[in-house]
Amino acid sequence: MLTDNFKRKIDYLRVSVTDRCDLRCTYCMAEDVTFLPRQEVLSIEEIIKLIDIFNELGVKKFRLTGGEPLVRKNIITIIEHLSELKKQNRIHEHTLTTNGTNLSKYAKILKTNGVNRINVSLDSLDSEKYREITKHGDLKKVVNGIHTASEEGIKVKINTVLTQNFNEEEVFDIINWCKIHSFDISLIEIMPIGAIGEKRFNQYLSMKKFEKNLVSKLNLTPSNFRTNGPSRYFSDNKSNTKIGIISAISHNFCDTCNRVRLTCTGKLFMCLGQNDYVDLKYSLRNLGKIDIIKQIEYAMSIKPQKHNFEILENNFDGYIDRHMNETGG
Ligand code: SAM
Ligand code: SF4
Repeated sequence: MLTDNFKRKIDYLRVSVTDRCDLRCTYCMAEDVTFLPRQEVLSIEEIIKLIDIFNELGVKKFRLTGGEPLVRKNIITIIEHLSELKKQNRIHEHTLTTNGTNLSKYAKILKTNGVNRINVSLDSLDSEKYREITKHGDLKKVVNGIHTASEEGIKVKINTVLTQNFNEEEVFDIINWCKIHSFDISLIEIMPIGAIGEKRFNQYLSMKKFEKNLVSKLNLTPSNFRTNGPSRYFSDNKSNTKIGIISAISHNFCDTCNRVRLTCTGKLFMCLGQNDYVDLKYSLRNLGKIDIIKQIEYAMSIKPQKHNFEILENNFDGYIDRHMNETGG
């Protein structure tokens, strides 16, 4: 079992399988983003090798993310491998976070391979607004994908990033839509990760203020429900929908952190909100398993206690100098 210096057990790995994406969400990346050269990106076989090593070290939960995981060629090979590990009881769960653009195509094969729940990002149910926030997105395609996944028996959770002057009103309609379709939803506070060509301060909506309004307007009560993630959940008495709140800035949850993140270039980040990492690619390509294990164990010893996110009016680029699509959400 991997344990860090703060006695936190690390049993969860998020794997960013690509930095590429077919959308350009305005809070995630700049529209003219340059993606990594392909030779820098780990092959499918290299990702699988690292997954196996983490699994041997006690990691039992894996989430594929990106960039957009479903645009990575041969992504199914990784999902099939995780499915095999699950059949052998070597892992508890494998899931993914997706923008949903390719869900109609992949829902069936995901379900066949033991993916029982997924997170789908959706910030508006208005086609024009959806296109505005994603720059390229086709809402209809995504909504069809979500319904296909649900019909296949995959439990869907919607991820909605709260953005100032964009969806702070509409979020109530999105919650209502989730209730109608029995989807859970997590509302995410924007984090200052990477330069996006505009001030983070102008996008940021404090969850502290918003949460009060949400709880009283929908008559919500705190729920004991927990997943492996950082959401605090609420429910009403009228639906099965659980409403999660992920507020990294207003409500720090680092003391219960159980995860680390692997980028598609083999960098292991121990915290989404800090710059420390160990680079596993060299060992993967030139040394052996023992060296990789030593590096992972070292990584645990330098896992930061917490992030130091803050969004200041005069800080243009935010705090972290890499983008969310690189580290994986
Ligand atoms: N492409 C997939 C998707 O959008 O679901 C997976 C990767 S995306 C980086 C993962 C999650 O991070 C998404 O729910 C997205 O909304 C969220 N995200 C991206 N940039 C963010 C930011 N700056 N602050 C908070 N959440 C962010
Ligand atoms: Fe792509 Fe996801 Fe980032 Fe949107 S949030 S640009 S879908 S990686």
